[in-house]
Amino acid sequence: MNRRRRIYEGKAKVLYEGPEPGTLIQHFKDDATAFNNQKIDRIDGKGVLNNRISEFVFLRLNEIGIPNHFIRRLNMREQLIREVEIIPVEVVVRNIAAGSLSKRLGLEEGTALPRSVIEFYYKNDELDDPMVSEEHITAFGWANPQEIDDMMSLAIRVNDFLSGLFLGAGIRLVDFKIECGRLFEGDLMRIVVADEISPDSCRLWDIETNEKMDKDRFRREMGGMLEAYQEVAKRLGIMTQNERPVGSGPTLVQ
Ligand code: UDP
Repeated sequence: MNRRRRIYEGKAKVLYEGPEPGTLIQHFKDDATAFNNQKIDRIDGKGVLNNRISEFVFLRLNEIGIPNHFIRRLNMREQLIREVEIIPVEVVVRNIAAGSLSKRLGLEEGTALPRSVIEFYYKNDELDDPMVSEEHITAFGWANPQEIDDMMSLAIRVNDFLSGLFLGAGIRLVDFKIECGRLFEGDLMRIVVADEISPDSCRLWDIETNEKMDKDRFRREMGGMLEAYQEVAKRLGIMTQNERPVGSGPTLVQ
């Protein structure tokens, strides 16, 4: 396993060559980073939880026909995915003001937005992922207008679906980020959801207390990050290996 070819190492994940052409293995690390790597820490068990939560979300997206890169989970930290050409644009959808939007526009965190808002950020660590417009995306050739339309419609579908999914678990989906990629199948190409969807990439607040259940716990040094991620997994009905009730018999972990 160690001699696999490493394709890419990011802040929280590593990509390895997959077992078949056109596949990759996505490995979730325990590293937590914020403010473009100025704050780095290791949160033991975060990778395992994000692997499980992201698997759960992508499986649900598959069930309702939202195209994505996920094939199957391989083990505690890894999943098999389709190789895509990542579009270097982060698509953020916001339902409630928080984070950079609150700062930029002077909106109090927690203010409901009149409607869901989509923003684009150019994926570039050296530049701190600057916000960009559709004009920048097409002018610099990161994606064409059709691809931008596809990304926006995927983002809206993911938002509608995830908002309901989390609401059913007593969690408010404040905002989230997705990444999209080009999946080539023969002569055809389509835009699919890639990367991960987890409490690292979403803002999730408890519906009653507004308690943060996401990476803001790390960014804002609130502590309790792992416990919050565990609570998200629990509320979504995801059983993790080490959560097996004491005294219960062996369980099949799929
Ligand atoms: N986000 C992300 N990766 C990034 C930047 C943002 O996953 O590199 C997510 C973040 O977790 C939040 C949403 O996108 O759910 C909006 O983030 P915001 O622009 O408010 O950024 P922040 O101020 O948190 O850096």
